[in-house]
Amino acid sequence: MGRKNYTSEIYNLPDASDVILCGWVQEIRKLGNIAFLILRDREGVAQITVMKNSIGNEKFREITGLNRESVICVKGKINKNTQSKLGAEVIPDNVEILSVAETPLPMGVIDRVSVDLETRLDVRFMDLRRPEILSVFKIESNIGKSIRRKLEDEGFIEIHTPKIIATATEGGTELFRLKYFEKDAYLVQSPQLYKQIMMSAGFERVYEIAPAFRAEEHNTSRHLNEFVSVDIEMSFADEEDVMNLLENVVFYSLKYVKENNINDLKTLNLDIEIPELPFPRLKYDDLLNYVNSQGINMKFGEDFSSEALNVIGKKYTGFYFITRWPMETRAFYVMPYDDDPKYGKAFDLMFGEREITSGAQRNHIYSSLKENMVKKGLNPENFRFYLDAFRYGMPPHAGWAIGLERLTMILTDSKNIREVTLFPRDRKRIEP
Ligand code: ATP
Repeated sequence: MGRKNYTSEIYNLPDASDVILCGWVQEIRKLGNIAFLILRDREGVAQITVMKNSIGNEKFREITGLNRESVICVKGKINKNTQSKLGAEVIPDNVEILSVAETPLPMGVIDRVSVDLETRLDVRFMDLRRPEILSVFKIESNIGKSIRRKLEDEGFIEIHTPKIIATATEGGTELFRLKYFEKDAYLVQSPQLYKQIMMSAGFERVYEIAPAFRAEEHNTSRHLNEFVSVDIEMSFADEEDVMNLLENVVFYSLKYVKENNINDLKTLNLDIEIPELPFPRLKYDDLLNYVNSQGINMKFGEDFSSEALNVIGKKYTGFYFITRWPMETRAFYVMPYDDDPKYGKAFDLMFGEREITSGAQRNHIYSSLKENMVKKGLNPENFRFYLDAFRYGMPPHAGWAIGLERLTMILTDSKNIREVTLFPRDRKRIEP
């Protein structure tokens, strides 16, 4: 017996329709010769009303003796004249038992007792069965889908760059080292260098949605050691062009989820507010002055601390850009302003106190790129494969990277990035 229907369908199909539902036994209540079984699948729940007379003594005993979370398939007819508050039930002709769950369960699926996050992550396969958790991932799926659609509409080509690399993207210590036969290699921290090479290759507009690895020691509620980076790079474009694209992508994604995840948003008790475009552009210097006026001691050239972002986030609660960053806060590949090279054509997209994206126009001038590299203490020799792409015709270009989990946190109002990651990798956890 294979699945034909999802539980959600029985509320729309006509009375007496034949259906086959498959899923997990969420609950069984036996009242004499009748049993009410709640079957759960990806799309919701259905009441299966089992009558001893029609199903037979032995089958009735078997069904009513099932442990919760066992897997079954039910072939039967929809009955709309039901007492069930769900509005429809299924009267089974046949119930096939496909997998019997052991007891006790490592954690409950619908029980209202709160279980701490660590325990939930230990038994993530059970935790993910909870409807509100599933809803988070259905939303994440549609965020990815909507971004893909928008980028495809805008003429972007999907690419796949290597995740095993020989040199660090930006130098630094945030790399996971691994043995690559007789050499040392690293897991990539960003596709940055490769997506730029693709501009030299003439692909013009590329995107990649793929994992990025950061060997950062910190264990915060918004950092993972493996996250999904949504990257784009675009030729003949400056930072303004890619900021426009970014806000349109975010706008489209919010609308897409609002329109296509109605049930999930209801399950999570959330409403998505569609922001107005364009998002405010706030200059680094102005925000620096603002945080200093609010009693935070921050010097020019420093990045905003979490306290500083907290203060800014109280004033700017929605989406906004921070633009015109000092070059010393940014990577070597950022393009400095012609009129004031102290500043780079870089931006971050923020939501309140949280950073979701950083981007920039890139420096496509071989000599000055190399110079900036040296200024940052990097050895251009180690970046030959990258720098060569700038020597034989490189168009001006710009791009950005959205942290998929960070954006999902905002749409699902999640306080911890682990909530929006199926199997998070953090300082302590590499299992499950
Ligand atoms: P942060 O300042 O928040 O540590 P970052 O400046 O290191 O981030 P970038 O290297 O600019 O971030 O990466 C681009 C985007 O990727 C960030 O805006 C964020 O959305 C996401 N991101 C970066 N690092 C992580 C991480 N460790 N875990 C989850 N997402 C991340």
